[in-house]
Amino acid sequence: MSEAALVLALVAASLTQTAADVARPGVFRITPLRPVAELRAEAQALAPPVEPGPFRPVDLVELKTLDASIRLDVRYATSDNFLGVPVYPEARAFLQRPAAEALVRAHRALAARGFGLLIHDGYRPWWVSKVFWDATPPSGHDFVADPAKGSRHNRGCAVDLTLYRLADGEAVEMPSLYDEMSERSAPGYAGGSAEARRLRDLLRAAMKRQGFSVNPTEWWHFDYAGWREYPILNIPFDRIGRR
Ligand SMILES: [Zn+2]
Repeated sequence: MSEAALVLALVAASLTQTAADVARPGVFRITPLRPVAELRAEAQALAPPVEPGPFRPVDLVELKTLDASIRLDVRYATSDNFLGVPVYPEARAFLQRPAAEALVRAHRALAARGFGLLIHDGYRPWWVSKVFWDATPPSGHDFVADPAKGSRHNRGCAVDLTLYRLADGEAVEMPSLYDEMSERSAPGYAGGSAEARRLRDLLRAAMKRQGFSVNPTEWWHFDYAGWREYPILNIPFDRIGRR
């Protein structure tokens, strides 16, 4: 482990709730303000905010079905996420069809440079965003969407991702951890290694060419240009594509 990685691991470990529940190195954690199970029960009993339409028809596509070489690391389906408990029942990733097709084009363009896309999250039901907001101390609210406005993830038009090396399948090192609530996560952060910054910028350029814009505080989060045309959704993964 590099010195930088060790420091990050110690930071992550110090942020966990108990010594018995130490985060995996490479995973950023907060201490949820209230138990996640409690927040989940409350959020699932609520309905998302209603916005005036019209909206485009919902057409969520599972990314793996468009290109099997897109890789998944859906941390919210495991305990290896900032809350330390699973919030998704399944490790799956969906986007609205135009965003999904644009993502596949970015993935294929990156192959010429020796990289592929590794997806952490796509469409996210609204109740999950509500849990993230309620669990996060106000000091971290720049990193979670306000559920009163809905997240672009809720519209199926935002994706969290990084690069993996085609040569060995390993995720690359970036200037910060995924979901790290620090200034290192800003896409313009000038610290970290030159190689990490180069790869962060390569990802951003590939995504931008396909109509995605990076979040100002998170190098891993991209919004698809047409996100305003889709409604805030609260459909569970296992109901997608069904009537
Ligand atoms: Zn995101």
